[in-house]
Amino acid sequence: MSSSRKLDQLYRQVIMDHYKNPRNKGELTDSNITIDLNNPTCGDQIHLHLKIEAGTITAASFTGEGCSISMASASMMTMSIIGHTEKEALEMSRQFSEMVQGHDHEPIDEDGDVEALAGVAKFPARIKCATLAWKAMERAIYEKEGGDIDD
Ligand code: ZN
Repeated sequence: MSSSRKLDQLYRQVIMDHYKNPRNKGELTDSNITIDLNNPTCGDQIHLHLKIEAGTITAASFTGEGCSISMASASMMTMSIIGHTEKEALEMSRQFSEMVQGHDHEPIDEDGDVEALAGVAKFPARIKCATLAWKAMERAIYEKEGGDIDD
C-alpha cells in the first residue's frame, strides 16, 4: 500500500470516528446563540449552539442530521473552536475553506483531526457538506456581534 493510500485510510478512520462518536453533540442549555443551517444539495441540517462570553467561545454543541462528512465536520469544528476568540474562530474557518478547496492553509486545530477532511477537495460536491458547520459558526458570530468583532 502506498503511503498516500495509508494516509487516506487513516483520514477515513478519523472521519468515521467523529461521525459515529460525535463530540459536543446535543443541546446546550446555556447557549446564547443558535443558528440553523441547511445544505440542500445533500440534505444536511445543523443546529449550532454557541456560548460566547466576552468575545470568547466558551461552549459549543450541535444537533441535526446529515451525511458522515457534515456530521464529522461539525464534531471537529466544535472541538476546534471551544476556548478560542471569535476572531480566531473566524480565521480557522477561513483556513478550513482554503483547505477543502485544495489550497495552501495554516494548521487549523491543535490535534490535527480537521486535516482528515482535506481530501474533500477531490470531491467538489461534498465541499458544502464539510463547510456547513463552519458557515453556521461564522453566521452565529456575526449575528451575535452584529458584524463588530473585537480582537
Ligand atoms: Zn452532506
